Amino acid sequence: MHQLIRLAAYLWPLPYTLFGFACGLLLAGRFQYRDGVFEIHSPAIASVLKRFPVAANAVTFGHAVLARDNEMLRVMRQHERVHVRQYERWGVVFVPAYLLASAFLYLQGKDGYRDNPFEKEAYAVDAADS
Ligand SMILES: [Zn+2]
Repeated sequence: MHQLIRLAAYLWPLPYTLFGFACGLLLAGRFQYRDGVFEIHSPAIASVLKRFPVAANAVTFGHAVLARDNEMLRVMRQHERVHVRQYERWGVVFVPAYLLASAFLYLQGKDGYRDNPFEKEAYAVDAADS
């Protein structure tokens, strides 16, 4: 039963994992597989992340984490693993839920990134760790 749940946790967000994997290939990423997660970095990924609305050091798509470089993979690992767990819980609904939460907060005059409950959960792990 436990193995079936683990399998579902991988299948349910699989479209996002494939998207992240494809981005890694297109952006000439260097891949490593660690604790069930593809970690990918490259200079091209770095230049895309710098152009995000909130300049990012890393981004998670399902079980694929893209980062500026190997150092940022290390620094952001705990934070991005929280997002991996969120994808495992929310599956294909995760990205729409994240964006709706951001939009809702923005319309209330709040910060759609820092006030987003998905980010708060990830930053709480960072804070607990430091
Ligand atoms: Zn985050």
